[in-house]
Amino acid sequence: MTAEDATETLTEALITAEILNRHENLGISDLPPYLRSLFDTNGSGELKRPVVVSTGSVKKALGIPDALALLNGHPFVKHEEFGQRLSVTSLEPAISWFLSHGGTAAAGRNPAFAFELQSQDRQVVPYEDVLAANPPYEDSRSYLDRTISRIIADDEHLRGALDLMIINAPEEVEQEIAGLVITPEQKSVIAKLNVAIRHIDYLRRHRITEIGKLLFVGPPGTGKTSLALAMAHVMHMPILEVRLPMITSQYLGETSKNIERIFDFARKVAPCILFIDEFDYLAKSRVSDDHGAMKRAVNALLKNIDRVTMIKNRVILVAATNHPQLLDEAAWRRFDEVVEFPLPTLEMREEILRTFLGPFETTCDYKELARETEGFSGADLKMMVREAVLAALTDGRRNLTADDIEQGSLMVKGRTIIRKIHST
Ligand code: ADP
Repeated sequence: MTAEDATETLTEALITAEILNRHENLGISDLPPYLRSLFDTNGSGELKRPVVVSTGSVKKALGIPDALALLNGHPFVKHEEFGQRLSVTSLEPAISWFLSHGGTAAAGRNPAFAFELQSQDRQVVPYEDVLAANPPYEDSRSYLDRTISRIIADDEHLRGALDLMIINAPEEVEQEIAGLVITPEQKSVIAKLNVAIRHIDYLRRHRITEIGKLLFVGPPGTGKTSLALAMAHVMHMPILEVRLPMITSQYLGETSKNIERIFDFARKVAPCILFIDEFDYLAKSRVSDDHGAMKRAVNALLKNIDRVTMIKNRVILVAATNHPQLLDEAAWRRFDEVVEFPLPTLEMREEILRTFLGPFETTCDYKELARETEGFSGADLKMMVREAVLAALTDGRRNLTADDIEQGSLMVKGRTIIRKIHST
C-alpha cells in the first residue's frame, strides 16, 4: 500500500467510525470488507459501541504501522495521547475534505458513507444500491468460521465431517456467474431457485417442498462444477464440496457414517449449498461389491437426500455426474430438477472464446474459431487458450496469432484422440 492509499483508507476508517457512532442501526454489513476487522474487535460480527479507532487497532487490522506519521497535519483528524485514539474533529467537513481529495470512489463502495450522505441529502447513489453491491458479512470466511466453530464445539460426529469436504465461503469462491456461458435452461433454474429462496416461508406454508435438489448431467468440462461454485455468490451461501470417492472408506460401515456426517453438518451450517461431485461413483462401485457395504452406502445416501430440503432446512443440494446412465430410478427420483450441460453450441463457443481471449491482444476471428472447435467443451476451449498464450510467451510475444491458437487447438485435439484410444 502506498502512503497515499494508506492515508485515504485511514481517513475513510475514521469517518466511518464517526458515522457508525451517529447511527446505531448500522451494522457490520454496512462496512466494506476491508474495514470490517477494524470494527469487529471481538470477531463476533457485532459492533461494540461506541466504536473506537486507535493506532494499535489500525496497525493490527489494516496493517498500517505508522498512522500518526501519515495523519500528521491532516486538517480534520485529531489524536489523543491517552489510548492513542484517533478520530475526526468534525464529521461534515471531514467528509467534504475526503470527497474532494480522491475519496469519491471509496465512499461510493461504503454503505455507511452512503447512509450518512443520504441523511444529509447529499447522496447521488442511494444507500440501498451501495448496500446491495457490498458483499454481505454472511459471505465472509470469518462469519463461516464462527458458524462452524459453534456447531462443532462439542460434537465429535460433526467435527469429523470437516475432513470429508472442502468448505468455501462465497467470498472465497473465484468463479463468478458472469464468467460462465450458460444455457437458457440453466439460467432459468437459477432464477427459479432465487425466487424460491425469497418466498421460502410462503412455499413452506403451502407445503411446496420439492425444490432445491438439482442433478447436473453432462460430459466433463461443461461447467457443472463451475456453475455450482458460482451459485455460492448468487445465493450468498457457503458451498460444501464433496467428492464421493473421497468419502468412501475401506472400512465397512464407515462410508454410511461419513454420508450421515456430511448431511448432518450441512443441515447445521445451513443455509448452504451441498455439492456432491462424481455422484455416480457409488452406483458404479455397487456392481463389484461383494459385501453389500456399497449397497448400504447407496441406501444411506438416498435416505439422507430425503432428509434435507431447501424449504425446510435451507440446504440446496447439487449433485453432478458425467455418467447419468449409471444412476438407477431410485436415484433419479430424488431430484427435483435435472439440469443438462451439453457440449457448447456454435454460439456458446463463440461467447466462451470471447470470455477467455478477451483479455489478450489478438486478431483472431471468433466466429471462424468457434466453427473450427466443434466438439470442444468449455474446459477444452480454456486449455486451447492457455496453450496459445504459452506458445506466444515462449516466442517472446504477448499478442496471440492464428498460429498460436492453432497450436492450442491441435494440442486439445491430440488429447481427445489419446483419451478415445484409452477408453475403448
Ligand atoms: P465439469 O464440472 O462439468 O467437469 P468444470 O466446471 O470443472 O466442468 O469446467 C472446467 C473449466 O472449464 C472451468 O474452469 C471453466 O472455466 C471452463 N468452462 C467449462 N464450461 C464453461 C462455460 N460454459 N463457460 C465458461 N467456462 C466454462
